[in-house]
Amino acid sequence: MSTLLLQALYLVAAALFILGMKQLSSPKGARRGNWTSAVGMLIALLATVVNLGLLRRFTFTGSVLALVGVAVGSIVGTVGARRVRMTAMPQMVALFNGVGGGAAALVAVYELSYILGTHPSPAESFPSVFSIVVGGISFAGSMIAFAKLQELMTGTPITYPGQQVVNGLVALAIVALAVYLIGFSNLALAFSALLVLALVLGVAFVLPIGGADMPVVISLLNAFTGLAVAASGFILDNFALIVAGTLVGASGTLLTLLMSQAMGRSIANVLFAAVGSPVAGPAGAAGAEGKSVRAGQADDIGTMLAYSRRVIIVPGYGLAVAQAQHVVRELADLLEKKGVAVDYAIHPVAGRMPGHMNVLLAEANVPYEQLKEMDEINDDFKSTDVVLVVGANDVVNPAARNSPGSPIYGMPILNVDDAHNVVFLKRSMRPGFAGIDNELLYDPKTIMLFGDAKESLTKLVAAVKAA
Ligand code: NDP
Repeated sequence: MSTLLLQALYLVAAALFILGMKQLSSPKGARRGNWTSAVGMLIALLATVVNLGLLRRFTFTGSVLALVGVAVGSIVGTVGARRVRMTAMPQMVALFNGVGGGAAALVAVYELSYILGTHPSPAESFPSVFSIVVGGISFAGSMIAFAKLQELMTGTPITYPGQQVVNGLVALAIVALAVYLIGFSNLALAFSALLVLALVLGVAFVLPIGGADMPVVISLLNAFTGLAVAASGFILDNFALIVAGTLVGASGTLLTLLMSQAMGRSIANVLFAAVGSPVAGPAGAAGAEGKSVRAGQADDIGTMLAYSRRVIIVPGYGLAVAQAQHVVRELADLLEKKGVAVDYAIHPVAGRMPGHMNVLLAEANVPYEQLKEMDEINDDFKSTDVVLVVGANDVVNPAARNSPGSPIYGMPILNVDDAHNVVFLKRSMRPGFAGIDNELLYDPKTIMLFGDAKESLTKLVAAVKAA
């Protein structure tokens, strides 16, 4: 294949990646965006394989190994992605991301085995060294993130005195070793040490971060993997890998920043503050003493909903846990048939991963027009009769506005407390991810409907039908 044709195909693939990402930015185009990017990847893959074949670069053993790798990867990827529960999606992304980083590091290790002992220029060895460090950190860090989310290890931050200093020293040792390798010597021993240190730093960096902050960390590690893959592109002289890796690096970085912004926290706070550590004294329930809550019955709430003009549904993590997306839609449809205007208010960090609520509700075929982003709907709560908070807590907690000492202070929230009536569907008075009490649960206009969200919604459907 001529170089020009190969580069042209890579350019088409790159354009499709960018177009796909653009389509992914709205729920309407997301499905198409996935396909567009996948077609781009297929073109890049086929162009590379055909080109290598024409150049007679394949040995028999190499071809067999590659085919076995593709078969194993395709089967595990397809079965894994099809079977995974929505609530387990973050750990699947962690696993797949880690494997990508590990693969990039392995490519670099393999390539280095050729230039070891020679005297490569810094420009030759830099991509390999970079890929080993960043890919190694991404692999090891992602595996810890996976283990925390899969509850194979504790999700609470693992900390010890002087931890950040130790981590800083490991990072410094990596930089020193990398500079030595690139600038001065090309020793196998030094490369092995570099790989080991990168793996150690990956583990050490993620250990002190709480389980619920893992989606932000995974997004950051995803950016790392992208950069490691881009470096592999330089090593292998593959334009498509450079473009794809850089896009992943850039989008992962932006997503990380957007997520921490939506949580009202700095990225440094997410990475270094060990949020989620057990705190002295009664966490969360502390504010509960002496306050009363109003527990309601599904029949009464159903009647109130049926006679409302406007209802806003606020989904949260509990909707995903209860897998209540289909029944919430059934309730919304029923209310609309009765002439009630229904919308869903989507907080950017509701649930445990970006777009969690959008994906869940799309699975239940909730019309996209009913999904309203926070900024779009926040002024509407004032004129809303009933807000149905389904398994959400932190994203509606007024402490984010009113309590400067609160861990969520500064996080933009949905102004649910402006509505005439608020109904919380949750199982208990337990707090959400941030571990803090929610004053709104004790507000006189709030009614608690205790129980699993799916069961409560099923009862509400029956009650609205009967009203
Ligand atoms: P929260 O974690 O604040 O609250 C979820 C609530 O759901 C809990 O209070 C729980 O109460 C309830 N719940 C759990 N299971 C059920 C069930 N089966 N039926 C009914 N209720 C249930 O979730 P939010 O969505 O409000 O907020 C998300 C939090 O996660 C934020 O603090 C955000 O910063 C954080 N986060 C989000 C990320 C993202 O990308 N989306 C990433 C990282 C962190 P009970 O136990 O009483 O039922």
